Amino acid sequence: MARKTVKPSAKPSVESCSPCGGTGEVSRTVRVGRKQRVVGQQAGLCLNCLGSGELPADD
Ligand SMILES: [Zn+2]
Repeated sequence: MARKTVKPSAKPSVESCSPCGGTGEVSRTVRVGRKQRVVGQQAGLCLNCLGSGELPADD
């Protein structure tokens, strides 16, 4: 019998934020010029969790 997805024994009350992976920061691409040339990446606050790295329990 194939095992299904392993669940953690102790499930946290909150889930990790998916856009930032629970770090609270996301790397955003920095673009410049009319052609929006990519010049690098910059760490920015995750707007999904506002830096907490966790999804809000209530919404
Ligand atoms: Zn986040």
